Amino acid sequence: MPVQTIADVDLSKKNVLVRVDFNVPLEGGKVADNSRIRAAVPTIDYLVKRAAKVILLSHLGRPKAQKNLKYSLRPTAQELSQLLGRPVIFLEDCLGDDVQGTIAEMEPGSVMMLENLRFYAEEEQNDREFAKKLAAYGNAFVNDAFGTAHRAHASTAGVPSLLPIKVAGFLMQKELEFLGNRTANPERPFTVILGGAKVSDKIGVIDALLDKCNNMLIGGAMAYTFHLAQGKKIGNSLAEKDRVADAKAALQKADKKGVKILLPVDSLATDTLNFETRTVGAIKTVSEDIPDGWQGVDIGPKTIQIFSDTIENSKTIFWNGPMGIFEVSACAQGTFAAAKAVARSKGISIVGGGDSITAINKSGFSDKIDFMSTGGGASLEFLEGKEMPGVAALSGGPHK
Ligand code: AMP
Repeated sequence: MPVQTIADVDLSKKNVLVRVDFNVPLEGGKVADNSRIRAAVPTIDYLVKRAAKVILLSHLGRPKAQKNLKYSLRPTAQELSQLLGRPVIFLEDCLGDDVQGTIAEMEPGSVMMLENLRFYAEEEQNDREFAKKLAAYGNAFVNDAFGTAHRAHASTAGVPSLLPIKVAGFLMQKELEFLGNRTANPERPFTVILGGAKVSDKIGVIDALLDKCNNMLIGGAMAYTFHLAQGKKIGNSLAEKDRVADAKAALQKADKKGVKILLPVDSLATDTLNFETRTVGAIKTVSEDIPDGWQGVDIGPKTIQIFSDTIENSKTIFWNGPMGIFEVSACAQGTFAAAKAVARSKGISIVGGGDSITAINKSGFSDKIDFMSTGGGASLEFLEGKEMPGVAALSGGPHK
């Protein structure tokens, strides 16, 4: 059954529980990156305009079922208030009489945020009684938290199963549209760019996207596991020896399907890397075979050229994962070049994963990207074709 969205139902004057993903980085008690909060504003604004009482649910970090104020959502409520230009009531607990009392007294069109759901173990256990207590606050449910939709928790699966109206918010709708339809029926050529540390994290998505894309560009440390599969030398580069068979299988599948897998033809390599101080020793460009004592830390200039040309000539692009150790500025060129090429391309560009989004933001091209997924792990699981409990829970009637 297709998922209904917020625009398909009448939520005016209702008490609407909205699951948002305000799991944002904090620094000195302030929100360090408000992108996830900004991304939820259209849904909240829409409900405010319809005089709904908006009750926001979220988690932040891993408080391990303790009321640890290091993980309080209070700073996110303050940030949201600034973004909305209106007060946001913050409640210090997600359960208790205070919540019911405040909802009863709230003006229609006002916004309330409950404290971190993960202060209770019951949230991640998808505890029925806990879900019932939360569901009792509202008569409709909106899920705008794509980033947690791959988990069956009380606020993602339990609460919607108890309410008659449960729909996707605008952000969730966009995630499903871009990661779903646009990659399932892409305009071609469809190029996938994958990077980051581990093949093991991404083998599922590699396999699934080989069924859909025309080109797959692989950078980051992942590429060295593929190089091992091709019998190349990788020096001291990071690789997963136990995943070489997976890399070989992916190369064979690509061959069969006529998908081009492009691996680095050169790398930037260093003899010493100190990640703590973000410094490197000697650095040089090396060919596909990396000499002993040297570690590949970024894609090289020829690869940058080949990858950029392929990206710029694509009609659909999906990018996840950095091309090198981009946290160290000497190793960040490949990742920024990818960001630039994705931004320059006239095709539909979809970027997923924290690191790639950070790189896009730092490169100053974020306004040129069609869609930046807030999902992280959830985006990859969705692209793999796995069922998402938080999405599945938006279909079907209530189970009392
Ligand atoms: P992931 O979480 O799998 O997307 O991996 C992101 C991490 O991969 C970043 O912290 C990068 O520093 C790291 N990474 C990318 N390229 C390399 C490389 N060549 N060697 C070691 N780590 C890398």
